[in-house]
Amino acid sequence: MDGHVDGNSLAGTLSEYLRFEPTTAVARCIACGDIGPVGEAMVYGGDQGRVVRCRRCDAVLLSIVPTTEGTRLQLRGVAWLQIP
Ligand SMILES: [Zn+2]
Repeated sequence: MDGHVDGNSLAGTLSEYLRFEPTTAVARCIACGDIGPVGEAMVYGGDQGRVVRCRRCDAVLLSIVPTTEGTRLQLRGVAWLQIP
């Protein structure tokens, strides 16, 4: 008995936390440790996809790529997001 439940148990909790204004969230850059509002990061690209880079070290924090099946949000450069 390992005591876990499946991800469906997060339905209420996750939907509560994912309803926030992302630009006011505070992110920590994995590469340099900078901590700051997403709204102060540097954004490149346009309709084909966007890359958001750290304001201090230029590392990729996250990317947003539209596909035919949905939008892919990759947060590979974010250690954590603090939701206000
Ligand atoms: Zn950085």
